[in-house]
Amino acid sequence: MEPATFVLFGATGDLAKRKIYPALFQLFVDQKLPSSFSLIGLGRRELSHETFKSNVEQSLITFSRSEVKDADVVKKFLRAFRYHVLDVDRKEDYTKLLRLVEEREEELNITPNRMFYLSVGPEFFETIATNIHESGLGSVDGWKRLVIEKPFGHDLESARQLNHTLNQAFDEPEIYRIDHYLGKPMVQQMGQLLHSALWEQADLRTRSIANIQISANETLGVEERAGYYDHTGAIRDMFQNHMLQLLMMLMIELPNRSSVDEVGKLKRKIMKSLMSLNKMDITQHVVRGQYGAGEIKGEQVVGYTDELGIAVDSQNDTFIAAKLRVDDPFWKDTPIYIRTGKRLKEKVTRIVIEYKSKGPLKDLLIVEIGPNEGIFFQRSQSDKERSDVEMSVRSQLSFMKESVKDAYETLIHDALVGDKTYFAHWDEVELSWEWVQPILDAYQDTLIPLHIYSAGSYGPHEADELLARDGFHWWFDF
Ligand code: NAP
Repeated sequence: MEPATFVLFGATGDLAKRKIYPALFQLFVDQKLPSSFSLIGLGRRELSHETFKSNVEQSLITFSRSEVKDADVVKKFLRAFRYHVLDVDRKEDYTKLLRLVEEREEELNITPNRMFYLSVGPEFFETIATNIHESGLGSVDGWKRLVIEKPFGHDLESARQLNHTLNQAFDEPEIYRIDHYLGKPMVQQMGQLLHSALWEQADLRTRSIANIQISANETLGVEERAGYYDHTGAIRDMFQNHMLQLLMMLMIELPNRSSVDEVGKLKRKIMKSLMSLNKMDITQHVVRGQYGAGEIKGEQVVGYTDELGIAVDSQNDTFIAAKLRVDDPFWKDTPIYIRTGKRLKEKVTRIVIEYKSKGPLKDLLIVEIGPNEGIFFQRSQSDKERSDVEMSVRSQLSFMKESVKDAYETLIHDALVGDKTYFAHWDEVELSWEWVQPILDAYQDTLIPLHIYSAGSYGPHEADELLARDGFHWWFDF
């Protein structure tokens, strides 16, 4: 692997501590970091290199999935770490940073390959990219890469503006947009596993699909993210990115790992084939909700507007369900239902593919993405007695014998080796915003009622009606 300098903006923040350092450490333990590797952590607070290293060590003790017993291994890992004070707005800080980066490259005698990882709020992305460019940090003999986390914009227009600014400093192939759902092992292997699953169940290969259901249900509420979440909502926080990415990954049904261009091309094709919703469709095909007070696992919880930091009259959504159609001869009769929300009864990310059948028994192909992972078949009763669903698992594929990797390990490694397959590409991000924008407009124009649902339920009953109108129900809402 080529040598690299990892320049980490937001090195004192929560994401760095919980995810980035543990992932880098695991890659180090697994010998998957470049042999010449240097990390420069950035933040506003004054820290010595030593204090920074000991903070990183502390985060490894708390969050690493490798047992941090061997002090020598940790010490070796931390040798690569330096700290530099930087305020994103102060141009002189970038000039000093450039000197430090060059010094380290000389010390290690490595080609300038620089990865700029922005673990900071999205409001800083444009300023940082511009300052990297103007300071000369981005002028390298080797490669340069920019890693950013969603949200990529707040709506279609701001996403385009953000991308335009980033493109002044980085070309599209140099921009790595993390959507951590794409780093999940089950999501990455879904195409291949579905393919083998369908070979095992030969009769299903020729059968039509009645509907597809994609759910990402959370039990947590808004927690400490009130400021961010209250102007983001479920549609921007989950639906526009994670849920549409899951849909794309499901539908490409890749038999084998494809090249990045191929994955990108197929995903674009899928997004373009999604039928866009007009105002009338939106009122009928989109359900918007907000959690009220309720009980989750025996514990009373407050409603959204009683959460700390949320306005008492907030009209923000914590739940969305939508019915999507695909304009394609194969999928034209198959509705796709997507839902996601907070404070729901059960934490689960799951896809259910329901096959057409004449009798009361339904064949389901189920993809469990989290917290459990697997693909299996189930033959179930179609009646409403959901608790009577016959749990006759017909086939369970063996999956991921090795310990499950964290999404950040996979994605950081891929970014270091320059593999963009499982990152969100601009075209699909733009197409996702284009599809979602009419819904945002309808929200703005209050065309869609905000339904209050009890915490601990499966969301507003209008989300059940969305399927009931077509003769279906959400599977596994026990
Ligand atoms: P955080 O704990 O608030 O950390 C923010 C970081 O940004 C700190 O290191 C802070 O350093 C730095 N920072 C803030 N203002 C700065 C400025 N003007 N100049 C230079 N540095 C500045 O936030 P976080 O939770 O780590 O989240 C970072 C990003 O990741 C956000 O965009 C978030 O949406 C995203 N994200 C977070 C998580 C998560 O689990 N936390 C998950 C997914 C995505 P100083 O205070 O030292 O300046």
